[in-house]
Amino acid sequence: MLAIAAAALDEDGTLLEANAGFLRLIATDGLRHIGARIPQFFIQPDFATLKRVQADPAGQAHRGLMTIGDRLGRLRSLHGRVWRVDHRLHVLAEHDIAELEQLYDTVLALNHDYANAQLELAQINLKLQQREAQIVAASLTDPLTGVGNRRRLEQALAMEVSRADRSGGSLCAFMADLDHFKRVNDTHGHEAGDKVLASFGDVLRRRTRATDIVARFGGEEFVVLMPTTSLEVATAIAERIREVVAALRIEPLPEPITASFGVAERAAGEPGDGLLRRADVALYEAKRLGRNRVIAVNGEAASLSGTSA
Ligand code: GH3
Ligand code: MG
Ligand code: MG
Repeated sequence: MLAIAAAALDEDGTLLEANAGFLRLIATDGLRHIGARIPQFFIQPDFATLKRVQADPAGQAHRGLMTIGDRLGRLRSLHGRVWRVDHRLHVLAEHDIAELEQLYDTVLALNHDYANAQLELAQINLKLQQREAQIVAASLTDPLTGVGNRRRLEQALAMEVSRADRSGGSLCAFMADLDHFKRVNDTHGHEAGDKVLASFGDVLRRRTRATDIVARFGGEEFVVLMPTTSLEVATAIAERIREVVAALRIEPLPEPITASFGVAERAAGEPGDGLLRRADVALYEAKRLGRNRVIAVNGEAASLSGTSA
């Protein structure tokens, strides 16, 4: 498709008149160039040459190929003529706008590709984030029981201790350990032992609250961390769990299993490991007193109180 570019310039290269075709050649912002000096846009032949050369009898100073630039430095080749009349230059040229339109189509297609690539990238990012969340969750979970692992407990403990320090609220923890668990393994096999561990983890999760943190401390020992919970409530929850476990029937075990519990309430300013140590002492006491029972110690650590079956 051909377009006509027509313009009149004075001897200084000031654009006096131009049609849309010419304005489109030198810039997209069109009319601002009327009255502006544009000699620099005449690349081939250059403006000085057009002004200087001997014109033919009809006033023609140039005939043939011309190269015109624009403000962005892009060059366009045209076919045209330039006349010199009364100290003015009259330009008349034609150029192929199909090329321009192809360029425009290419830009549109690139934009489209770019938008698609952005979309794909966003989707990949989302998948990566989900994957990362899964990996983080897996790195904090005990695979056998589905409760938190030791690392999860340590993170939660540090967080809850500083939260309790800030709020002044109470924080309790209990440590639970299956009774005579070695016997389960010895009598029924390691696989049955694993099943018992998974069932115990299940009870702990189902019988605690969403704000409580359940973790496998190691072997057949579990810890439940209970933020903003009084010793009385924590003890009652441990007691309830003890009862549920004792009533549980786990195939292929013919006899019920039991667990012992040590509950501790955090003393003001006490570090997390101190709280766990006292829960462990209480648990040891529960074992010593005959197992299948809950022993609680308050923040002053000295007084022991217990419930049993
Ligand atoms: P107590 O009542 O004093 O706690 O006696 P216990 O037999 O439960 O205590 P002990 O610490 O002697 O035994 C713990 C057993 O737990 C020994 C070990 O084989 C078993 N155990 C630890 N981790 C796992 C596990 O992941 N799977 C299975 N099946 N057994 C485990
Ligand atoms: Mg045990
Ligand atoms: Mg043990």
